[in-house]
Amino acid sequence: MNLSFSDKILHWCKSLIHFRRFSQSWMGKNLSMIQLMELDACTHCAMCTSRCSVAIAYEGIPNINILPSEKIASIKALASGKPLTEREIRDLQEGVYLCTNCYRCTVVCPVGIDLQNVWVKVRELLIQRGVPELSALSPLSFYRGLMKGERAQGDYERPLTRAREAILAQCDAMQKKDKVLHLIPMDGEFKSGLNLSAQAKNFSVCFGCQTCTTVCPVVGHHENPQEILGLLPHQIMHAAGLGLRDLALGSNMLWDCLTCYRCQEQCPRGVSVTDVLYELKNLAVKYTKEKM
Ligand code: SF4
Ligand code: SF4
Ligand code: SF4
Ligand code: SF4
Repeated sequence: MNLSFSDKILHWCKSLIHFRRFSQSWMGKNLSMIQLMELDACTHCAMCTSRCSVAIAYEGIPNINILPSEKIASIKALASGKPLTEREIRDLQEGVYLCTNCYRCTVVCPVGIDLQNVWVKVRELLIQRGVPELSALSPLSFYRGLMKGERAQGDYERPLTRAREAILAQCDAMQKKDKVLHLIPMDGEFKSGLNLSAQAKNFSVCFGCQTCTTVCPVVGHHENPQEILGLLPHQIMHAAGLGLRDLALGSNMLWDCLTCYRCQEQCPRGVSVTDVLYELKNLAVKYTKEKM
């Protein structure tokens, strides 16, 4: 983009006006001067969205902030002091989290905005506010994990703990360990939701041999695994088979699973243990989001 000298002056004056507004908002105060200038330079051309590797997620999750051109508009609004509702800020939080940090948006932006940098900064600012972000438990946390060393003590773990607590809060039976469980009526909606998945619907053929638990490296890592992990893989398969939603969804095991597929490879009944755990994670997030 070739700007004439007068255009440049005009743009600079506009930027100064924006900076005044930006500097009064919480978001504006926490972004660098360069990032504020970058927000201002966005022309909303949507090139970034056309190349975004997670834009397709918008088809399943109707949150416009998944799309980079829209999330930068929301960030700009927040930085300029526009009063966004709590729902809008949460949507932005989810939008900046649902990002693979692939750099594709940054590479194609015609005005040279370092979008990647903006997402990383804004994501951290938002998730440190205290509102649980369930995507923090997904593989999309990989990049954040790589950057763990750049966080202050405790800042990396806190959002993860909050997300787990938010899910556990929906699993009443898991919280009251001394409570007597009633097997009837089972949670039919939960069981049929799990049955819908082609990969995971074979959990009901489990005959309880415990091989999955025996070969699991995460279980083997702990001296007293149930204390740390809650239900172990074979118990989660039982809970799913019995339609005990709270027990199947409320275990730390779901989130500590390394997805190594050892359990699945060794199951004598051919149960897709790892895939079942995946489906349970999806259901746990779905149920919790509905309540938040
Ligand atoms: S490509 Fe750059 S200028 Fe275009 S919408 Fe995305 S951030 Fe804005
Ligand atoms: S870095 Fe994030 S927002 Fe940018 S293209 Fe990749 S997934 Fe999309
Ligand atoms: S290894 Fe298979 S059959 Fe054995 S407990 Fe695990 S899921 Fe059930
Ligand atoms: S996939 Fe998960 S549950 Fe299965 S063995 Fe590996 S870590 Fe354990």
